[in-house]
Amino acid sequence: MTDKKHGFATRAIHDGQAPDPLTGAVNVPIYLTSTYAQEEIGKHKGYEYSRVSNPTRDALEENLASLEGGTSAHVFASGMAAIMAMITMFRSGDHIICGENVYGGTPRLFNQIVTRYGIEFSYVDTSDPENVRRAIRPTTKLVHIETPTNPIMTLTDIRAVADVCHEKGVELAVDNTFMSPYFQRPIELGADIVMHSTTKFLNGHSDGLGGVLVGTRPKHKEDFAFVQKCTGGILSPFECWMILRGVKTLAVRMRQHEESGRKVAEFLAGHKRVQKVFYPGLTTHPQHELAKKQMSGFGALISFEMGSLENANAMLKRVKVCTLGESLGGVETLISHPATMTHAAIGAEARTKLGITDGLVRISVGIEDGDDLLADLEQALEVV
Ligand SMILES: *Cc1c(COP(=O)(O)O)cnc(C)c1O
Repeated sequence: MTDKKHGFATRAIHDGQAPDPLTGAVNVPIYLTSTYAQEEIGKHKGYEYSRVSNPTRDALEENLASLEGGTSAHVFASGMAAIMAMITMFRSGDHIICGENVYGGTPRLFNQIVTRYGIEFSYVDTSDPENVRRAIRPTTKLVHIETPTNPIMTLTDIRAVADVCHEKGVELAVDNTFMSPYFQRPIELGADIVMHSTTKFLNGHSDGLGGVLVGTRPKHKEDFAFVQKCTGGILSPFECWMILRGVKTLAVRMRQHEESGRKVAEFLAGHKRVQKVFYPGLTTHPQHELAKKQMSGFGALISFEMGSLENANAMLKRVKVCTLGESLGGVETLISHPATMTHAAIGAEARTKLGITDGLVRISVGIEDGDDLLADLEQALEVV
């Protein structure tokens, strides 16, 4: 069932997941098999070996391609494995432009591994599309962005950057992990490739890792399938099934994440011990208009300024419903301290440049009762 006329929630539940032809099972079976019996030489049912293809993986890939509005999807063992698979499209001498404030693992991969192979990178503030235009060289092949960025929630105008890229024959890849396709569909805005860490909102339950590349051209489909087959960093059938299960509730989860996200953002913005709140849904966010234009909701990630490391630590020690930890996008509220956790490795100077202070706290609002979250934050903030 891949009728594009169906709504998002219907496609999330049905696309790629017709009832099992053999038994009628409403859930796609987990095909725990490495190989497939063949009837005679060259005669098989389309499956030969599970690194190349697996029916559970096929179901997930069809589902995710539908949700992002792409023409193909390929899943990998983690978000980082998906990014690395995308990079294999390029060769020595090629140049890639990357947003200056993307997920920390991305520049680590680019600078410490991919540059060994002669691929060059520039990091620019993509919130101004003119910066992207200026950074494009004759050898530029890809622009890779994230919007909103973590943890300052700066947006990039996807359509404007896509236009700049396409004028110069460059492809645009968007890491859409933070918004999920429920709130933001970059391909509709001109992106060529969408990437996700399915570990976050798509799976949604903090119980498995995964990554996906959604493509828009026959070349993406061919290239990414070939990378799965050659490099082998594929997602296991069990994890594919978990993500299929998670995605079925993506629409309702995202609606609840957002409802509570707005409540928490407004509560923090009105709290006397909180100095500043970063959330694209607040009218005080400098890019609130762009957020309304390119996203259909504002999501569940919020950062706020506590003024000092001591203040941040005092409140983080006191939270009871919120869990102190890295990651995001799960049903449980996760709260973290970027300067010492997700952004420790980039160093103090880079953090200052990006506006990540020692007092900054980030929260990924889960789907617990909103009032319990507010009460928990209230009692934690009392100690400051
Ligand atoms: C977590 C994350 C990644 C990396 O994904 P893994 O599944 O942890 O490998 C990439 N981009 C963003 C925005 C992320 O949040």
